[in-house]
Amino acid sequence: MTTDSLTRFATEKLDRLKKARLHRELTPTSAAANAFVNRDGRKLVSFASNDYLGLTQHPDVVAASVHATQTLGSGAGASRHVTGNHALYRELEQALAAFKGTEDAVVFGSGYLTNIGVIPALVGPDDLIVMDERCHSCIHAGAALARSRVVHFAHNSASAAESLLRRHRHEHRHCLMLTEGVFSMDGDRAPLGRLAEIASAMDAWLMTDDAHGLGVVESGRGSGYRDGARLAIPLEMGTLSKAIGAYGGYLCTSRIVADLIRNRARSLIYTTALPPGVIAAAIESLEIIAANPALTEQPLRNARRFAALRDMPEPQSAIVPVMLGTPLRALEASRRLEELGFLAIAIRPPTVPDGTARLRCAFSAAHTIDTVDRFAAAVDRAIESL
Ligand SMILES: *Cc1c(COP(=O)(O)O)cnc(C)c1O
Repeated sequence: MTTDSLTRFATEKLDRLKKARLHRELTPTSAAANAFVNRDGRKLVSFASNDYLGLTQHPDVVAASVHATQTLGSGAGASRHVTGNHALYRELEQALAAFKGTEDAVVFGSGYLTNIGVIPALVGPDDLIVMDERCHSCIHAGAALARSRVVHFAHNSASAAESLLRRHRHEHRHCLMLTEGVFSMDGDRAPLGRLAEIASAMDAWLMTDDAHGLGVVESGRGSGYRDGARLAIPLEMGTLSKAIGAYGGYLCTSRIVADLIRNRARSLIYTTALPPGVIAAAIESLEIIAANPALTEQPLRNARRFAALRDMPEPQSAIVPVMLGTPLRALEASRRLEELGFLAIAIRPPTVPDGTARLRCAFSAAHTIDTVDRFAAAVDRAIESL
């Protein structure tokens, strides 16, 4: 019977994950103001959310979302190409392009959908993809859908990227270079100035993922900027689900490429448009970010304070990994922190390489200095007793 082999298949797969301490459970968790969450009947301070500016709870963002839902309805009803393209889309795309300093922007259903839509819309089986080995799962998924030849360069090594291009660029028609501006699990920043120069010299199209940069680095403009100037990055994607505190993804690019993407990206064409309330929240958040550069400096300030208290290298973003090695150690540290009133998630393979299980600590403008200090002490205690 098919059910039997299906059940056996699932059971065996799960047993293997459980033995390796890699099984994951979804725990009901509800967010509250000031980076608090309710979980298992307890109130914890969360260092596990990507809501870097606390904007998911901002009264103006929530009000904008409620107003749009009341006036335009709860769902978009169809794809953007059919009748789902409500007027708020254009407003959001223009605001994103203006804030990022590009000609245009295209909004998708999520960051994941952006990467799996944009990459195969630009390169195909005859082309080359050169990417950082630590890129996010959805960048790998986009590359796989493109069916291009994929080569990986050592993490953040511009010279390794350059030598791969020297070796292989001439064998292909087009080439896409992919990396993250701020790496989601390590919190370090890519050498984008150098990569942009190399890409331009070798006719590779640089596409960066700024999921963890927008709202957090370079006065909130993200990793596509350096010291107030925009870098030569023709394709910059990101998400509206993290510092923006809403949901969705986007690509910032030239007008002509945006037109192509609206016509060719399957994950934009064959999926329902985002609900108006989500778009309205993102527009409001972007306005808040653009008007409050001081707010955007707080996550990094908190991350630096935490690292300084624990004698760690100075963070480059709001993400600070505390390395623990094995999945068991990471899980145990996370459990002890929970007993102490803090939520920090154990990140295990395959999300990170084997032997580098860690606590991923994400800092927010919603954390007070005092909370950061107590969290640093709690992390020390949790690890000491391992
Ligand atoms: C979270 C994340 C994404 C996906 O964005 P969603 O909007 O959550 O789908 C893409 N890339 C990176 C680097 C991320 O961390």
